[in-house]
Amino acid sequence: MQQSLTIIGSGMAAYTLAREWRKRDTTSPLTIITADDGVSYSKPMLSAAFAQQKTPAMLAQAGAEQMAAQLQANILPHTQVTQIDVAQHSLQANGQTISWQRLVLATGADTLNPQLAGDAAGRVLSVNSLQDYTRFHEALKNTRHITLLGGGLIGCEFANDLAAAGYPVTVVHAGNWPLERMIPEVAGEQMVYALSQLGVDYRLQRRAKSVHQHANQFSITLDNGEVITTDLVVSAIGLKPRTALATTAGIAINRGILVDEHLRTNIPDIYALGDGAELNGQLLPFVQPLLTQARALAATLAGDPTPVRYPVMPVIVKTPAYPVTLVTPPANSEWQWHIDIQPNAIYAAQRDVDNRLLGFVLTGSAAAERAGWLKQLNS
Ligand SMILES: Cc1cc2nc3c(=O)[nH]c(=O)nc-3n(C[C@H](O)[C@H](O)[C@H](O)COP(=O)(O)OP(=O)(O)OC[C@H]3O[C@@H](n4cnc5c(N)ncnc54)[C@H](O)[C@@H]3O)c2cc1C
Repeated sequence: MQQSLTIIGSGMAAYTLAREWRKRDTTSPLTIITADDGVSYSKPMLSAAFAQQKTPAMLAQAGAEQMAAQLQANILPHTQVTQIDVAQHSLQANGQTISWQRLVLATGADTLNPQLAGDAAGRVLSVNSLQDYTRFHEALKNTRHITLLGGGLIGCEFANDLAAAGYPVTVVHAGNWPLERMIPEVAGEQMVYALSQLGVDYRLQRRAKSVHQHANQFSITLDNGEVITTDLVVSAIGLKPRTALATTAGIAINRGILVDEHLRTNIPDIYALGDGAELNGQLLPFVQPLLTQARALAATLAGDPTPVRYPVMPVIVKTPAYPVTLVTPPANSEWQWHIDIQPNAIYAAQRDVDNRLLGFVLTGSAAAERAGWLKQLNS
């Protein structure tokens, strides 16, 4: 018997799952319900597009209608799901009741809101969707100086991208060095140096406390009293899985929507994947995990129960001024840094007491040597 599939969301997780499932099931009905316009795009491009002068239209790969034709799907754009009724196998969206047989939550994550005082706190931008990028792109037309809040992965990438496009950038970062949870201090220092050569000015171990507007500019007050005058404030301090909808269905949540290795929630016939899902205590808001999840879930939904098994997943930080490639050691593993500093490269291995390689960070020219290190990790 044919069993229909309903997916909430139209991000990379949703569309990859739909594509993978269609490879296995070409006839069962597929519905995709999304709060946004349903345009397919590559989110990682958002933090590397400005220096390449990519407009929002250039980043859009296919519109909702094209995606519907490609996937033989009924796509409902601009449709926010507000309630899931498990007993009735139905959901509420835009005042309609829609039935489902099997439901997948691919609802992603929201950006964390910086807790700022001041009359311009609501004018701080964040960039987590193509719509956000459109607003950002527009705002940059009247901008000279930009202040970025956050020096993690996305903050570093935006800093590099904007500075490469010629904007002076100040980064306010609470940590001791950028990417401090991923790379050793010496690599962080080199990142700061490389980006400062492009025009990025760091305020480390600092937090923004308030933001006020004066005519067309903003003034940001930091926790040491320093005031930065700037034209645009962009926050990149982190993400938080969207879980509110799941709770309407009684789905168990922790930091994200809790799933087992088959991406099943605690409610029969409801699954979750992507930035919103928490598997084995881990949130993995990256492309490679969601691709692995989508392939496994497509197989499971097509009648071939397949657990998620992650391969070794390198992270490539999109900072051309200071290339970084890394693999994070398994959660809860114990390791120490073994660092080899060369004139234009750092090789930092994370090894356990038996000298086994668990993860690594390669920077500068070493970043290109990723394949050999991945081979070592896999062996
Ligand atoms: C700037 C930036 C750069 C990045 N760079 C990289 C990179 O280089 N490498 C990498 O691996 N990862 C990167 N990432 C992370 C990666 O892009 C994400 O992990 C991935 O795109 C998440 O996809 P998703 O489908 O889970 O979520 P999303 O893309 O957030 O999609 C969620 C979807 O759900 C819909 N939705 C939510 N709630 C509802 C509702 N109630 N009703 C209807 N629809 C709803 C939304 O409209 C949206 O369509 C980057 C992220 C950002 C923000």
